[in-house]
Amino acid sequence: NVPVAKAAVSVGFKDVARLREGGSVRIHGVSKSFGSHKVLDNVDLTLAAGSVTAILGPSGSGKSTLLRSINHLERVDSGFISVDGEFVGYSKHGDTLYELKEKDVLKRRADIGMVFQNFNLFPHLTVLENLIEAPIQVRGADRQEAAVEATELLVRVGLQDKLHAYPRQLSGGQQQRVAIARALALRPKVILFDEPTSALDPELVGEVLDVIKELARTGTTLVVVTHEVGFAREVSDTVVFMEGGRVLEVGSPDQVFSQPKHSRTKEFLAKVL
Ligand code: ADP
Ligand code: MG
Repeated sequence: NVPVAKAAVSVGFKDVARLREGGSVRIHGVSKSFGSHKVLDNVDLTLAAGSVTAILGPSGSGKSTLLRSINHLERVDSGFISVDGEFVGYSKHGDTLYELKEKDVLKRRADIGMVFQNFNLFPHLTVLENLIEAPIQVRGADRQEAAVEATELLVRVGLQDKLHAYPRQLSGGQQQRVAIARALALRPKVILFDEPTSALDPELVGEVLDVIKELARTGTTLVVVTHEVGFAREVSDTVVFMEGGRVLEVGSPDQVFSQPKHSRTKEFLAKVL
């Protein structure tokens, strides 16, 4: 007897209607535990459509769990998440539970691209096949049309000559650029990056950050978990510092990096800067 929320509005948050614009993300009172370990502790964040948010914080602070919750890969215990004004997945508000049907979850997820630390390309598929898989499966795109669009995306990430290569034939930086193109192939409103350069050799980090920088200009909402402070300072509108499952600090890059309010932010920055 779990009621199914048809839209964010039916959840009863007064201000949800205002968020019905391309790609805003609203996280309200979200908590999540694994057993007795509280991994997200009453997280509140509102990300404007088209904004770029960098999330920083020590290992284990809940950054990946937060991204996975936005994409409904994790089910939160309480609170509410909406993307583009549409309620995502599962929520407990007061004593009331709301849960989307699986097919609605899949529909919502199509608006949200995700790029992982370890690329997660399909190893047995070529670059082109990796890119057309989701548009065909999820959006019902025509194969020919999907291939044309995939080729355009590969031009955008500078890999048009790798159309028929397999992931193992590419460098880490190239694989991650393919993964970004693959995320774009669904025309998402929001793209979540979980430490997209952490697995790369230092000399390959720049080419991936350059592609993300380029995306930041296109109006897609980007959320990037990263330890690259220089990149966050240059590209993001908002910097979020998390620790122990809590958002300790939110502000402009200048505020957070130059005048952190919280002593834990200062200590963390002293280590990564
Ligand atoms: P971060 O990305 O900031 O390093 P995570 O969100 O990956 O943090 O993890 C936060 C905490 O939750 C860690 O202590 C981690 O061990 C724990 N955790 C994450 N996923 C699971 C899981 N599926 N089961 C149990 N514990 C988990
Ligand atoms: Mg992580």
